[in-house]
Amino acid sequence: MRGKKKAAVVGAGYVGLATAAVLSETCHVTLVDTDREKVRQINEGRCPIKDADLEEYFESHWNALRAICDGREVYAESDFVLIAVPTDLDPDRGSFRVSIVEAVISDICEAVRSAGRKTAPVIVIRSTVPVGFTSAMRHEISERYPDMKACFLVSPEFLREGTALRDMRNPSRIVLGTAKVEEVEEAEKKALEFVELLRGGMQDPGNVRVMILCEREAEAAKLFSNTYLAMRAAFFNELDTYAEALGLCSESLNRAVSADPRIGSFYNNPSFGYGGSCLPKDSRELLSEFQREGIPQSLIGAIVKSNMVRKDYVAGRILKMAGDRPVGIYRLTSKKASGNFRQSAVWDIMRMLREAGCAYIVYEPDFPEGGKTSFQLMRDFDRFQKACGVIAANRKGEELKDTELCVYTRDLYEEN
Ligand code: NAD
Repeated sequence: MRGKKKAAVVGAGYVGLATAAVLSETCHVTLVDTDREKVRQINEGRCPIKDADLEEYFESHWNALRAICDGREVYAESDFVLIAVPTDLDPDRGSFRVSIVEAVISDICEAVRSAGRKTAPVIVIRSTVPVGFTSAMRHEISERYPDMKACFLVSPEFLREGTALRDMRNPSRIVLGTAKVEEVEEAEKKALEFVELLRGGMQDPGNVRVMILCEREAEAAKLFSNTYLAMRAAFFNELDTYAEALGLCSESLNRAVSADPRIGSFYNNPSFGYGGSCLPKDSRELLSEFQREGIPQSLIGAIVKSNMVRKDYVAGRILKMAGDRPVGIYRLTSKKASGNFRQSAVWDIMRMLREAGCAYIVYEPDFPEGGKTSFQLMRDFDRFQKACGVIAANRKGEELKDTELCVYTRDLYEEN
């Protein structure tokens, strides 16, 4: 174990946990999270999120990860600090809140200064940040701490919730953004060192594609990737809207279009709207970037708008099907394999039903015990189906196979 690098991973969510698990093959890893319950679970060897591979990792790597609530205990001693904290969308401004990332970077530099050190650990930003954020932080830190040497890397993550660890172990690419200023060589050296540490935890390390870009390109690559995925989801949703509205078979149309190898039979399963914690916020942020910079666009705005048009349409269909019967909302998750309710399309559908005066009941067995709700929640499926007249399901599930109620869903392929 001697000679291993020390890494702190800040934020024990999907990105942080998967990053920590991969790095634990080559480094001593400490997870830092302000959520005491998560910290406790990790230290007891339990996975705090729903992800089959991560759960299996926790079973097979008992004690490989330790977690603490205050990173200032470990920052000064770390070789790398990876930041994977939330950057949620501020709905009023239509762009990311970066205050948590900023606060973590300040804590790192303060801890280094307090320890009387001149060199900060390499700071790797894994959170999705606005374009220009990393270089702005680098400038700010060099002004606030003129005697401190700090190297920043931005390394956006492309994993999917539900398969977080599998995706991190088998990445389509590792994208790294480095400063294109006087310290470029140093930053690239650190970037390659970081890649080697990651490779040690990958399934096929020899075949991983590494792409070193400038910071702004790396930041933009993440936003454009997710906006492309949102566009594809929106396209197949509108194809489905078209088919349903005209009484055509959506699946036949979808299959005939997807059979073209240039289009492909993947990521083409319609839903109530694209959701999850990344696609809606990242496409919205990219639109704000175009607007801020005064760059002409019409597609990016259409991708954002299309999702609301789709949800409006779906809510209309549900209302028509329900008549005066209460609607049962089957699950709040946007993906089958994930336990994440954030930004799932059903939240907007529920709001639209409420605004139309329609009663609804939610079935979500994984809703946190004691969690506050503004709606009627049921965890027992039999009670749920007795209480509602029709069911709306963004994604199908086992329980729906035997129900006698009408089920409205657009889930053609029973995939995520
Ligand atoms: P998450 O919400 O699952 O986890 C974030 C964690 O950070 C939480 O456990 C929270 O308690 C913790 N946290 C909050 N404030 C903190 C603080 N001040 N100090 C320490 N910990 C703190 O988030 P996530 O889904 O892993 O996303 C993290 C970042 O990565 C975001 O910017 C997101 O856009 C990006 N990202 C997410 C995914 C994804 O599929 N979820 C994929 C790629 C990139």
